[in-house]
Amino acid sequence: MTECKLASLNGAERTVVQVAGVSIGVGFTVIAGPCGVESEDQLLETAIAVKAAGADMLRGGAFKPRTSPYAFQGLGLKGLKLLEKARSVTGLPVVTEVIDTRDVTWVCEYADVLQVGARNMQNFSLLKEVGRAAKPVLLKRGMHSTIQEWLNCAEYILNEGNPDVILCERGIRTFETYTRNTLDLSSIPAIKELSHLPVIADPTHGTGRVSLIPPMSMAAVACGAHGIIVEVHRNPAEALSDKEQALTPAQFSTMMKKVRELQGFMEGVEKTS
Ligand code: PEP
Ligand code: MN
Repeated sequence: MTECKLASLNGAERTVVQVAGVSIGVGFTVIAGPCGVESEDQLLETAIAVKAAGADMLRGGAFKPRTSPYAFQGLGLKGLKLLEKARSVTGLPVVTEVIDTRDVTWVCEYADVLQVGARNMQNFSLLKEVGRAAKPVLLKRGMHSTIQEWLNCAEYILNEGNPDVILCERGIRTFETYTRNTLDLSSIPAIKELSHLPVIADPTHGTGRVSLIPPMSMAAVACGAHGIIVEVHRNPAEALSDKEQALTPAQFSTMMKKVRELQGFMEGVEKTS
C-alpha cells in the first residue's frame, strides 16, 4: 500500500486539534451526548447533564445513517439548529455527522467538528469534500477496515488541505456476537506509533452494551487514547436510535468521576516514566 505521506508520524510534530477552546491531542477529551437529536427537550436536558458531569464537547446526529430505511433518519436542519441552541446554552462545541457531500458546506455553519461515520469511512468523495472544509473532521474507523486503510482515509482529507483530523476507533466486526463490535483498543497505541494525528475511542458503538462502556472507557484512558466519545440519553428506553447502548446521565456522571481520576493517575505515571 502507498505510504501515507501526510498522516504518518515520520518525525512529524504531533497534531493537536483546536475546537472552539477545546484541545484534542493533549489530555483526555470527553465528547458525550445522544446518538441522535430527537427534540429540543431531549437534547438540552442531555447537553446540560453531560456538561455538569464534566464533558468537554457535545455529540448528536442530525443525519443518521441507519441500517433500515424505515428507521429514524434524523431531524436534518432542525436537528442542526437544536445543536446550535445546545451549544449556546452549555458552551460545549458540537460534533455532528455529515453523510452526504451535498451537505458539507452548510452543515459547517452549525458544526464545530464534522463526523464521518464508520459506514462512510471509505466514501472518497465525502472525504475529499470534508478535506476542503474549514472544520476539523472526526474520522471513525470503518467496521471492516485495517488500520492502514483507515490511515489512508485520513490521508484523503489531509491531502485536500484540511490538517485537522481526529481518528476514532469504534470497533470492528468479528465473529463475536455478545458485543455489537469488537473494540480494538490495540489500534490506539498502534495509531500513535504510526501517525501524528490524535486518536480517541468510542466504547459505545465499540461494545453496544451499557455495562461495558465504563470499563472500556477506563481502558481507553489507560492505553493512551486522547479521549472518548460516548452516547448519553436522558431516557435510554425512549431513544429513537441506539437505545441499548446509551448511558443515563447518572451513569455517565459516575463514570466520569472514575475516568478523571484515572486520567490524573495516568498523567502521574507518564511523568515518572
Ligand atoms: C454514531 O456515532 O452515532 C454512529 C453512527 O457511529 P458509527 O459510524 O461508528 O457507527
Ligand atoms: Mn449511535
